[in-house]
Amino acid sequence: MHEFSVMSEVMDTLVAESEKNDVKSVRKVFLEVGDLTFLGHEQLKFAYEILVEGTVFDGSELVIESKPALVKCSSCGYEGELKYEENPEFHLRLPDFSCPKCENPASIVSGNECIIRRMVADVED
Ligand SMILES: [Zn+2]
Repeated sequence: MHEFSVMSEVMDTLVAESEKNDVKSVRKVFLEVGDLTFLGHEQLKFAYEILVEGTVFDGSELVIESKPALVKCSSCGYEGELKYEENPEFHLRLPDFSCPKCENPASIVSGNECIIRRMVADVED
């Protein structure tokens, strides 16, 4: 399960951060997930529930915000949302994206990342 391995990497970072900051218990974690990651939000939450057991994150809420895919075209200067169709093959390999305006190859500006935005936690005095 792809979501599980992604979430376990996220957890490693979260746990390291919480230890650094003497976190007692965590209430909320905000995660930003790009549309181009094709990660299932429900699967991510499911993996989270399993991974937080026995940690300071146990009982916290995972809030997932999606981020649309944005591209930039160096040929015509287009910058904006990407039009693409959901295709199961994308889950294995990202396709080459073309500019919706001039159809030249465009580069991805955002949408392929999975970022920890912030977490709400109680800190030890
Ligand atoms: Zn273009």
